[in-house]
Amino acid sequence: MKIISIANHKGGVGKTTTAANLAACLANDGYKVLLVDLDPQASLTAALGVGDCEGQSMAEVIGDSAPGKMAIEKIILKIDNYYLAPSDLSLAVAELGLASRLGRENVLKKALDKLNGKFDLIILDCPPSLSILAVNALVASQAIISPVLPQAADLRGLVLFLQSLDALKDLNPEAELLGVLITQFDSRLIHHDQAITKLKEAGLPIFNTIIGRTVKAAESMGTGQPLVKYDPGNPRATEYKLFSEEVKTWLEKTQ
Ligand code: ADP
Ligand code: MG
Repeated sequence: MKIISIANHKGGVGKTTTAANLAACLANDGYKVLLVDLDPQASLTAALGVGDCEGQSMAEVIGDSAPGKMAIEKIILKIDNYYLAPSDLSLAVAELGLASRLGRENVLKKALDKLNGKFDLIILDCPPSLSILAVNALVASQAIISPVLPQAADLRGLVLFLQSLDALKDLNPEAELLGVLITQFDSRLIHHDQAITKLKEAGLPIFNTIIGRTVKAAESMGTGQPLVKYDPGNPRATEYKLFSEEVKTWLEKTQ
């Protein structure tokens, strides 16, 4: 069972879109995939068409100043051919309590350990912060994928974020940066090309596949389906499939 975090402290870079489309692609290839929504804003949960899950969400699994009362198995929902552990706004309150708990960085890892053997892959959709929930995700993961927009202004933030991953090495020595995924690329914008050149110059591992910009990404989120299901013929859906092949290479290599 492999665990991958989709993480970047910045919002709006395509974390949630990437998590949903990667899960759908790998599920289509026969992998048993669980998506975990770790963002109290619950945008992944909403994007997959799941409504109110108050009392049955990751908040109850994580707990607050006291340990969570619910095993993760109890909240998992089947969505199409993959699975979701949903989030709810109450996770924000839970996180405040978690901050005071002993062993607070390992709570998610312990919860996910109980699923060993039940899934081939767990994908963690992180909140846009380096909060204790994001730290929990990074501690539980073997690999990290960092979506980023091709904007020079975002590069310094990305480098700082990746440096903060190094600081977590003590807590989780095995986590590796699988790669930086460029999203919402528009070939008509010169500054996008320039930002990609800078990213490459920075020596960061970058996925070969670049995800272009499409209005269908936001549109599909409103339908409860990832883009690869909603509009499979869309060039961006093809890009997400190619990206998932790159992730598959890593999955198969490390099995
Ligand atoms: P994050 O989880 O990092 O905050 P999201 O995946 O929620 O980012 O994406 C932020 C916004 O950008 C959403 O409205 C989403 O629909 C949109 N979006 C995501 N991917 C693309 C894309 N390839 N092209 C255009 N818009 C996109
Ligand atoms: Mg998100």
